[in-house]
Amino acid sequence: MSNPTPAVQAYRASLLHFHADPGFAEQAHTWIEDGLLLVEDGRIKASGDYAALAPALAPGVAVADYRGHIITPGFIDTHLHFPQTDMIASPAPGLLPWLETYTFPTERQFGDPVHARAGAEFFLDELLRNGTTTALVYCSVHKESVDAFFETSTARNLRMAAGKVLMDRNCPDFLQDTADLRDSEELIQRWHKHGRSMYAITPRFAPTSTEAQLAATGELARAWPDTFIQTHVSENQDECAWVGELFPQRRSYLDVYEHYGLMRPRAMFGHCIWLDDTDFARLAETGSAIAHCPTSNLFLGSGLFDMKRADAAGAMVSLGTDVGAGTSFSMLQTMNEAYKVARLKGSYLPALRMFYLATLGAARSMGLEGTIGTLAPGAEADFIVLDPKATPLLARRNAHAGSLEETLFALALLGDDRAIRATYAAGACVHERTAGFAFLPSNRPTETDS
Ligand SMILES: [Zn+2]
Repeated sequence: MSNPTPAVQAYRASLLHFHADPGFAEQAHTWIEDGLLLVEDGRIKASGDYAALAPALAPGVAVADYRGHIITPGFIDTHLHFPQTDMIASPAPGLLPWLETYTFPTERQFGDPVHARAGAEFFLDELLRNGTTTALVYCSVHKESVDAFFETSTARNLRMAAGKVLMDRNCPDFLQDTADLRDSEELIQRWHKHGRSMYAITPRFAPTSTEAQLAATGELARAWPDTFIQTHVSENQDECAWVGELFPQRRSYLDVYEHYGLMRPRAMFGHCIWLDDTDFARLAETGSAIAHCPTSNLFLGSGLFDMKRADAAGAMVSLGTDVGAGTSFSMLQTMNEAYKVARLKGSYLPALRMFYLATLGAARSMGLEGTIGTLAPGAEADFIVLDPKATPLLARRNAHAGSLEETLFALALLGDDRAIRATYAAGACVHERTAGFAFLPSNRPTETDS
């Protein structure tokens, strides 16, 4: 029996995507006011002017009418912790007490596959509700948590990267691992490049790994050069001082990771606040990337990331929510706080740059350019439909927006999950905003035949 699903899906909306970094190039983006996006077999088939593409559509292809909305590539969140969903917004005076009081006891529960599976379902729902189609995710120290995560993301055909946290010292007994990384290797063999899943080798941070574990981690990263590596670096000053005591022979906190072979393309370093110029240069030279996590940094009082210095060094920057220290799953709210952090560091982040960082910039940081983060033909059809009038306040503000920059800026500063009208992964609709928010006529879905 043949399946009558039409081969091509068509979406009419304004289209926005990037081909360069607006921080460094004049004409970095493509904007099509009345655009048409064509998807076939889970990939972008074409994107361009409605007037140019519509006449060539086969008869009977229904066009989903999202006029008044903006289609962009799905957001990419390059740093967050799936087992910390239940403890988001937990009060603690700083990183180390926060870990002890909330994080470790919460992560303990993820050794239970049933608990982990339920947590993964909720976590992925929340990502998709916020328009995030790819994330670089920390699981817990239990391999069951990784299996639960990938079983859930694979069932939804999502492009996700995740890995088992490694830590074998300075942590509670119930989360303590060893320098024997056979579990991680087994997980790589099971999940890396299985469908759209990708594995991330995940030492939590230098203070919770022995030198033996870091050395084994470096070996694993060499053996599997196209896996990701993710960890934290230079988040707050107490932590930096602690690393200095634990690794007195190393030049800097970041140098601990370099020493053990953990700086390379597809290595993602969370936070990067208290780095010096040599550190920023090493990030750029090794092809490693930065996950800037402003809501988390402000929440924990960790410090202010310096975008200007990262740019001056040519280091790749992306944005992470860092849930549960981050206070929102929304990449729009993450842009909002990134903007303010940049202001406090004397720099300015235009909205176009922020949307770049959350899409193509993140894809480049993850070595996935051409695969995700764009509406160019051939890319995987992971895209979102943004509603610039999603709330009464956004509608009022954007009714007189004078430019694309103004519209995007209002979305970043005032938007959240309500601004995500729909989320598509590999061409399938994986989230649609529910009727509870349909208080504006423009929120009603309509279909037109072209
Ligand atoms: Zn983190």
